[in-house]
Amino acid sequence: MDNSQNSSHTPAPPVRDIDMALPEVPREVRNVLHPVRLGGTDTFKFRCHPGVSCFNECCSKIEIILTPYDMLRLRRRLNLDAEAFLYEYADPSLNQKGQLPMAMLRMDASTGKCPFNTPEGCSVYEDRPVTCRYYPIGLALMHKQQSEGDESFYFLIKEDFCKGHLEDKQWSVAQWRQDQGSDGYDQHNQEWMDVVLRRRTAGDTTGTSLPLSEMFYMATTNPEAFRRFVFDSSFLRRYEVDEETAKLIQEDDEALIAFAFRWLKGALFGSRDGLSVRREAMEDLKQRQKNRPLPASEESQP
Ligand code: SF4
Ligand code: SF4
Repeated sequence: MDNSQNSSHTPAPPVRDIDMALPEVPREVRNVLHPVRLGGTDTFKFRCHPGVSCFNECCSKIEIILTPYDMLRLRRRLNLDAEAFLYEYADPSLNQKGQLPMAMLRMDASTGKCPFNTPEGCSVYEDRPVTCRYYPIGLALMHKQQSEGDESFYFLIKEDFCKGHLEDKQWSVAQWRQDQGSDGYDQHNQEWMDVVLRRRTAGDTTGTSLPLSEMFYMATTNPEAFRRFVFDSSFLRRYEVDEETAKLIQEDDEALIAFAFRWLKGALFGSRDGLSVRREAMEDLKQRQKNRPLPASEESQP
């Protein structure tokens, strides 16, 4: 999934919180995670190159979540609109109770291979998803309750088939991230990670309605559809959106995705930094609630 380089070793404390940070990851997957918490200066040995006996083995039968920025980069490379990309390359994640749906890269149904895998390696290497950039490093994210913020750490993924761990190149986690271009991706994915993490932390008891789940999937996977939703519906009559922002999101997909997250945060969590509802829309809503006929049970109340 990558190529390589180096650094020096600082022992990192063993942790058990991989289980806690990744509760949805199946046990058999967690078993290949080296149970050591890594920071940016911690090091590991690894090198991947076409000469390794396992070349390409890691690019099949895997679950790769596509972030909004992953999809933007891949679509631009493949010159596809969102609709065509989703149709050809993605499936929605199986909806776990209460969790938000995400796009998963669709593996070939007969071979189990990634559609971008070729005998020479990754055909979209410069635009490969962030998950592929991190490998064999994983990122664990934990959202703390009571607005204490998030906590993250890294861990090593050691799968038996991957011979890259036997090579003699050393890296610090920070060097690896920089070399693989994960840093830039993380900046673009920050809002998405924040929303997914907050929703996951809220647990299964806090349901997300089906319409809101569908809206989340549309807004995070299909900027063109979300743009139509903003400009061709009553959206702009309901929310305060200044002219400059409206012009920007009409032309710029990155700005549109950032805008979508502002709206989603308000809709999902009632965040104060979400979009403000227009005064007229609030009054209209109050009026409609007032005029709504009472249910039969309430009508019979004294
Ligand atoms: S299994 Fe490991 S060493 Fe082999 S190609 Fe994949 S990342 Fe590289
Ligand atoms: S996108 Fe590239 S690196 Fe990632 S799984 Fe597919 S072929 Fe491998």
